[in-house]
Amino acid sequence: MELSGFSEEQLTVRDAIFKICSNFSDDYWLDHDQTETYPHELHKALAKDGWLGIALPEELGGAGLGISEATMMLQTIAESGAGLAGAQSIHANVYATQPVSKFATPDQRGRFLRRIISGEWRTCFGVTEPNTGLETLKLKTTATPAADGSGYTVTGQKIWISSAQVATKMVLLARTTPLEEVKKPSEGLSMFYIDFDLTKPGLEAKRIKKMGGRAVDANQVFFENYEIPKDSLIGKEGEGFKIILHGMNAERALLAGEALGLGYIALKKASQYAKERIVFGRPIGQNQAIQHPLASAYMHLEAAKLATYHAARLYDRSTPGHKDHDASITQHAVGVACNSAKYVAAEAAFVACERSVMSMGGMGYAADYHVERYLRECFVPRLAPVSREMIMNFVGERVLGLPRSY
Ligand SMILES: Cc1cc2nc3c(=O)[nH]c(=O)nc-3n(C[C@H](O)[C@H](O)[C@H](O)COP(=O)(O)OP(=O)(O)OC[C@H]3O[C@@H](n4cnc5c(N)ncnc54)[C@H](O)[C@@H]3O)c2cc1C
Repeated sequence: MELSGFSEEQLTVRDAIFKICSNFSDDYWLDHDQTETYPHELHKALAKDGWLGIALPEELGGAGLGISEATMMLQTIAESGAGLAGAQSIHANVYATQPVSKFATPDQRGRFLRRIISGEWRTCFGVTEPNTGLETLKLKTTATPAADGSGYTVTGQKIWISSAQVATKMVLLARTTPLEEVKKPSEGLSMFYIDFDLTKPGLEAKRIKKMGGRAVDANQVFFENYEIPKDSLIGKEGEGFKIILHGMNAERALLAGEALGLGYIALKKASQYAKERIVFGRPIGQNQAIQHPLASAYMHLEAAKLATYHAARLYDRSTPGHKDHDASITQHAVGVACNSAKYVAAEAAFVACERSVMSMGGMGYAADYHVERYLRECFVPRLAPVSREMIMNFVGERVLGLPRSY
C-alpha cells in the first residue's frame, strides 16, 4: 500500500501493530482456521499494549484516538496475514463500544469499558435475527420491564453473533415498545450493554459452521426470559436505534479497512509467487495476463483506500469533542461515506483475492499458500454487516433521490 498522506499517528499505529502481529505466523493462522481455534493470544497481546482502547477515552485507559487510527489498526492486523479472522477477534471491542462510550452515563462508562480495554472482558454485538435479517427495524427480540422496576427480561433469538463463545458482554438491540405502538419503526428499540453469561438460565449459544474466518466463532443465540439489570440500558429507552447507528457507521469503516488488508496481503503473496514461479523458461509474472490483473486490482484497492480513510475521517470529525470537530458534517454524510467505503473496499478486496488465487494456479488453491483462506474470508465484508444490495438501495434512494425499491 502507498503510505503517503497518512497522519503520523496512523503510521505509528501501523508500525506498532505490524510488530505485534509479526509474532503470529501464517502457519498460526492456517492452523487456527483449520482447527477452528480462537486466537486468544492475539487478543491478549493487543490488550497488553493497550490497543483495544484505541478509540476509547484516555480517562478510561484508552488511547483517545479515532476511527481513522482504529481502521488502520484493523487493516494492519488483516494485512499482517491474520486476515479477517484476526481482525474479527477484536473488532467488536472497538466499534461496538463506541455507542457505549458516547451514550452511557459516566458511571456506566467506567464500569463497562475499563475491563474491555484491559482485555479482561470481551464484547459481542447482538443485532441480526434469523427471521428478520436486514430488516433490522422489525427485529423480534423483546426486553420487557420487570414489574418491580429492577430490570428487564429478554426473550428472542439472534444469529451470526461473532465471538459469543468467548464474550462476557453483549451490545444488544431489543424492542421495548411493540412495533404497533410506535409512530415510526425506528422508535421503541433500546440498546443494552448486558452481561453475556452462558452459565445463567435463559441464555444459550450454538456455534454455526462457516466458510471462512473459522478461528472466530459465529453463533445462534437464544434468550428466554433472560434477566438483565436496569442499568444495562444505554441512553434513553426507545432511542436505541439512533444510538447503535454510531457503532454501525464505525463498523463499516473498520470492516472496509479489514477488507483492504486482505486485498493487499493477497496481492503481496501472489506477486511474490509470480516473481519466483518459472514456467516456459520465465517467471509467470512476466506475462501480462498475470501482471495486469494484479496491477489493476492494486489500483482498485488504492482507490478504495481513499474512500475508506475519507469515511473514517468524516466519522471522527463529526464527533463532538474530536480535536478537528466540524459541526457541519451531518450523520447522513457520514453514513453515505461509511457505506460507500465498505462497498468499494469489499469489492476491491474480492477482486484482489480472486485474482491472487487464479494467478497462482494450482498453488492458489492450496491451504499452505494462504490466498484461498483470504478468498474465503473476503466474502464477509461483501455481505455483512450490511449487504451490497442494501447499500445500493440506500444510495439509490437517499443520495440519488430515486423511488424506494423495496
Ligand atoms: C461471518 C459473519 C459474522 C457476522 N457477525 C455478526 C455479529 O457479530 N453480530 C450481528 O448482529 N450480525 C452479524 N452478522 C450478520 C450479518 O450482519 C448479516 O448476515 C447481514 O446483515 C445480512 O443479513 P441476512 O443474512 O439475514 O440476510 P437477509 O436479510 O436474509 O438477505 C439475504 C439476501 O437478500 C438481499 N436482500 C434482502 N432484501 C433486499 C432488498 N430489499 N433489496 C435487495 N436485496 C435484498 C440481501 O442483500 C442479501 O443478499 C454476521 C454475518 C456473518 C456472515
